[in-house]
Amino acid sequence: MAARLKFWGWGREDEVLTREEVMRLEAAYAKRFGVSSFEAASTPKAEEIGLRAPRATVPGALSDICSTDHYERLLHTYGKSFFDSARVFARDFSNPPDVIAFPRAESDLVSVIDWSGAIDAVVIPWGGGSSVVGGVEPPRTERPVVTIDLKHMGKVLEIDTISQCARIQGGTYGPALESQLKPSGLTLRHFPQSFEYSTLGGWIATRGGGHYATLYTHIDEFVESLRVVTPAGALESFRLPGSGAGPSPDRLFIGSEGILGIITEAWMRLRPRPKYRAATSARFADFYRAADCVRAISQAHLYPANCRLLDAGEALVNGAGDGTHAVLVLNFESADRPMDSMMARTLEIVRAHGGDYDEAALGKEGAQREGAAGQWRDAFLRMPYAREVLTPRGIITETFETAITWDRFRDFHEQVKRATEQAIQEVTGRPGIVTCRFTHVYPDGPAPYFSLHALGRKDSLVEQAWAIKIAASEVLNRLGGTITHHHAVGRDHRRWYDRQRPDLFAEALRAAKQRLDPKGMLNPGVLVDPL
Ligand SMILES: Cc1cc2nc3c(=O)[nH]c(=O)nc-3n(C[C@H](O)[C@H](O)[C@H](O)COP(=O)(O)OP(=O)(O)OC[C@H]3O[C@@H](n4cnc5c(N)ncnc54)[C@H](O)[C@@H]3O)c2cc1C
Repeated sequence: MAARLKFWGWGREDEVLTREEVMRLEAAYAKRFGVSSFEAASTPKAEEIGLRAPRATVPGALSDICSTDHYERLLHTYGKSFFDSARVFARDFSNPPDVIAFPRAESDLVSVIDWSGAIDAVVIPWGGGSSVVGGVEPPRTERPVVTIDLKHMGKVLEIDTISQCARIQGGTYGPALESQLKPSGLTLRHFPQSFEYSTLGGWIATRGGGHYATLYTHIDEFVESLRVVTPAGALESFRLPGSGAGPSPDRLFIGSEGILGIITEAWMRLRPRPKYRAATSARFADFYRAADCVRAISQAHLYPANCRLLDAGEALVNGAGDGTHAVLVLNFESADRPMDSMMARTLEIVRAHGGDYDEAALGKEGAQREGAAGQWRDAFLRMPYAREVLTPRGIITETFETAITWDRFRDFHEQVKRATEQAIQEVTGRPGIVTCRFTHVYPDGPAPYFSLHALGRKDSLVEQAWAIKIAASEVLNRLGGTITHHHAVGRDHRRWYDRQRPDLFAEALRAAKQRLDPKGMLNPGVLVDPL
């Protein structure tokens, strides 16, 4: 049997960084912050944490699929942001959900929603719980909170190999989704960093961003049709390759973050697994020159699958560089044809912008797993496990991602970075590290992703991290960047989202919510307040 999921970190209880990895991390951070060593708080144990008594009693008819189990309530209290991690290590479980429901079929789901309505409960849809924006945590309310975990609705129900699509349940985790598709030779190829512990329904509900750095950047592009259960009933859209029939019903629910209904199934567009690849990485002395290069690649409509630009600091932190140059990780892939000519043209653009690249990697099988590209990939996969080592040592590790048009990029990047660095200095009393990479790029602009590392005080990590986040988000919002490119709005980004989206649009969304969820049960506080 698989080990339990950690309520205090990423993945399962038997998946932790090795002793050597921990020592390496400690040494690297000690050097960065100029300290000799760290004292680590202990990992919380389920039995040492007291929870308030559940505020609802599960009726007999639902007892098979609803639980008030202590561990389940701990596990479903938080998502996976730094703020969540800091509260976990502070043993702050003051606002847990009351009941966790595990429907096995749509009929179970309807019964849970009906019961929740009858007891005036708040309902929180839960996929993998990997939200980093407070999307799955209970709001502070007198109402009981029922979290609906869709993990038992995790099947690929049907594969249409002619149209290359599949009907997939909302609670399907990434690995289960790909392994069920594998015999067909088709793949969704949506690989967020959280792939292992997040679900299709969560990806759609948050407009997640995945594998493709260009063209198919968000899950949106792969959704062919949706089935959604709302408190007002179920609805399903036509399966269509495209349609001009009015506003898209799918687009109302894609990105709805669980406030309008629960996505139980989706027909998803698939593709054959790639057979041809061309991969390398390029180095640039200057980050902005490298950004110009990425713009030129993007505006030449070359569409590399991977086009991730790491600034020198980001490359250093992830072992893909020595901190003196920016690194551009490039990868083309296709199931149909060799990608060499696309890569050759891309490298002409790289050279024209003063970049030099790894000639030896070109044409080599598995090049995307070697050299700087491979280092980056390995670090990317281990990164989620680092937080549970760093938080107990008082190290704040946060990320925020945005998008901005190219004409404003340089000034935007300079100001956001400076504001974040200043905030770290003011809040923690010492310099921190702020790095940037592009996760996705478009002909009209990049999606910069900032990571910050700061040494905080263990007794006020949440407050300090919030002060830094507010300072960064204020500047980002004032300069016209989006408050999120793919992590979603949740509860954490509400104040900036409210300024970003037009007021009349918010009223229209609220009216749609009123129609679908008249009692305001679903995820209150996320995206809009009820009417
Ligand atoms: C280490 C790490 C790496 C990450 N990397 C990425 C990345 O590369 N790209 C990216 O886009 N995001 C990333 N994220 C953020 C997160 O994984 C995504 O937001 C993901 O899409 C959430 O999926 P989930 O199944 O875990 O949803 P949850 O966290 O359970 O839920 C997210 C939101 O969707 C709602 N929801 C969940 N399931 C449903 C459903 N079936 N119907 C309706 N509403 C639902 C919830 O109520 C909540 O508001 C990362 C997070 C972590 C911790």
